[in-house]
Amino acid sequence: MSFWVQKYGGTSVASTEKLLTVAERLHEQHSQGHRLVVVLSAMGGETDHLLSLARQVSSEPGGSALDLLLSSGERVSIALLALALQALGCPATALTGRQAGILTEGQANKARIKNIDNDRLNGLLDEGQVVVVAGFQGMDESGRVTTLGRGGSDTTAVALAASLGADECHIYTDVEGVYTADPRLVPEARRLEHLTYEEMLEMSGLGSKVLQLRSVLFAEKYNVPLRVLSAFGSGSGTLISKEAENMEQATIAGIAHNRDEAQLTISGVQDMPGVAARILGPIAEAQIEVDMIVQNVGQDGTADFTFTVHRNDYAKALEILEQVGGELGARETCGNRDIVKVSLVGVGMRSHAGIASRMFRALADAGVNISMISTSEIKISVVVGEPSLETCVQVLHKEFGLADARDA
Ligand code: ADP
Ligand code: ASP
Ligand code: MG
Repeated sequence: MSFWVQKYGGTSVASTEKLLTVAERLHEQHSQGHRLVVVLSAMGGETDHLLSLARQVSSEPGGSALDLLLSSGERVSIALLALALQALGCPATALTGRQAGILTEGQANKARIKNIDNDRLNGLLDEGQVVVVAGFQGMDESGRVTTLGRGGSDTTAVALAASLGADECHIYTDVEGVYTADPRLVPEARRLEHLTYEEMLEMSGLGSKVLQLRSVLFAEKYNVPLRVLSAFGSGSGTLISKEAENMEQATIAGIAHNRDEAQLTISGVQDMPGVAARILGPIAEAQIEVDMIVQNVGQDGTADFTFTVHRNDYAKALEILEQVGGELGARETCGNRDIVKVSLVGVGMRSHAGIASRMFRALADAGVNISMISTSEIKISVVVGEPSLETCVQVLHKEFGLADARDA
């Protein structure tokens, strides 16, 4: 008999019909003797709906009142699933994050799981119950309800799997697994049988929202085998685990894209020590995270400085930059929200030279202009204009033959 933590995303529990299908499946697995913890998201669209309500009453909703509001979506779905399981004759208990012993730390609306007190969960599992836990939420030291950031139910599931010692963590979603690129953007994208934690970390970190980044970090840290599968299909999905000894590594595992960034530029500043710190210091003090940074030095001894931030921070960052620009006597400060970051990811890239130039050539031939570049051992990212996104991803998918089987 196996012990699984299974997570069902919003689309998988979007209606009572879908919840009933999930309940039947769990009932069957429970009847076969499996030990089951089920983590649920709010019903599809519900978290967005709650957020839009908050925005109707406040221009900048945040803090613990927003946490309380957003956490209510998951309460509805877990209660409905427990009722559905009980109606099928399957013993089930629904627990909020707090009731499940999930203790968090850090900022409101993006709290991190610090510790899980398993006693109650283990007790219920030993009684033979299916335990249904609200994803995306916990409680901080002062007893306040917290939420874990968008997509946070993935992290709840992996953290529970690690803490309870489950055999595998299953993430059920609306696609059949992790693909070589977002299948909504590239119809020929291929499901991957297997990915290493390292590759999935990059894919998630670079924008593939199929798994929240923090969930992959937990899985790697505690060595939890993670499987992404379709909630209503029957395939084996994608297994994310440590690198197997005999694993044949393709050069490129996949392509990630991120639409959540914006680009800012300050040009014509003096090229001298301390200028980069003067520009980025106030941005950091405003708690704005900077991702890519590029500096170009012109022949006239002045420099242009370009960086990216989250789109939500764009207006604030631009305001700060305009002020700094004034102080530094910059020629111009400007920004662009309509950009995307597209990245090639693969541990096999380590041993292959020439990937970057092939990437740039393919994009140039397709008429795609690159405005920023950043590389690491296992990824190459470019920033391009948002209208080029589809072309960019599709051209690269083709150039690197990602539709052809990697494990063949
Ligand atoms: P859930 O509601 O189940 O948490 P999400 O919307 O968070 O589902 O994640 C699934 C979505 O992730 C897919 O519908 C797909 O559009 C998107 N996605 C982005 N990149 C990938 C990828 N490489 N492989 C699979 N899905 C991807
Ligand atoms: N319901 C939350 C969201 O939509 C958490 C999750 O689904 O993982 O982001
Ligand atoms: Mg998700």
